[in-house]
Amino acid sequence: MKSNNPNVAEMMNGFERICKAKGLRVTHQRTEIFRALLKHTDHPTTEGVFQQVRKHLKTISLDTVYRTIATFEEHGLIRRVHQIDNATRFDVNISNHHHLVCSRCNKIEDFYWPDFDRMKLPKSTSHWSGIEVKHVVVNGLCSTCKKKT
Ligand SMILES: [Zn+2]
Ligand SMILES: [Zn+2]
Repeated sequence: MKSNNPNVAEMMNGFERICKAKGLRVTHQRTEIFRALLKHTDHPTTEGVFQQVRKHLKTISLDTVYRTIATFEEHGLIRRVHQIDNATRFDVNISNHHHLVCSRCNKIEDFYWPDFDRMKLPKSTSHWSGIEVKHVVVNGLCSTCKKKT
């Protein structure tokens, strides 16, 4: 399912709008880093984003990319994807969605599950508060790996 194919120009406009609304300066570096996150729709790691941005901004450091991504995350522009392999990955798709993860190649694909999203947590979790993310990870074989078997 190809659900993560954003219209880059539109998303970039959205980015600028959100930055302005939140009082974040829209710098060239931030714009390039966000664009790299958008183009890299497979839930990139910070290193992956760095490799991409570097092609355009030769002088950028990994540390800057780390700090910028942390700023984006803080302001809700991107989301950290938990529980998936050992690397920290980021998601520009901040709408409610879940992940299919390939047990062989670690490919991550988005999927939507409105029925799940509507479900209430069971009573046994009611002594916890501040629960935010209800995120399902489904493991299996992606279509490429399935073909190889
Ligand atoms: Zn795979
Ligand atoms: Zn995702």
